[in-house]
Amino acid sequence: MLNFQLIYKRRSILGFFLILCNMDISKIQNQLEKFAIERDWRQFHTPKNLAMALSVEASELVEIFQWLKPEESNSPDQKQIESINDEVADIAMYLLRFCSVLEIDLESAIKSKLERNSEKYPINLSKGNSQKYNKR
Ligand SMILES: [Mg+2]
Repeated sequence: MLNFQLIYKRRSILGFFLILCNMDISKIQNQLEKFAIERDWRQFHTPKNLAMALSVEASELVEIFQWLKPEESNSPDQKQIESINDEVADIAMYLLRFCSVLEIDLESAIKSKLERNSEKYPINLSKGNSQKYNKR
């Protein structure tokens, strides 16, 4: 069982990555494929449509936080947590579906990007510094 609430509270990209690695991504992708086949929705699951759906779901997540004060966003109430869980799941499912359709190995893509980010953001230059690497 994914614990998006814990990930959210810890705000850890590494934590998200580790949980993602513990997920049986292939199993979930197969479940999503089965879900689409049963509804004859594969015809709609083009990369364009899935990228757009992913963006819409990300916006739905943003909408939960829209107009909240920073401190309010630090401690969402139970109803907001439930909505956050739903949107995070929607995002993850569309992302996994997108990767299936384009035959992207998500784990490899994440590992590769994480390595490049480690080079772009070395600890000695980045610790406590939120500036983008090309703006320093
Ligand atoms: Mg949604």
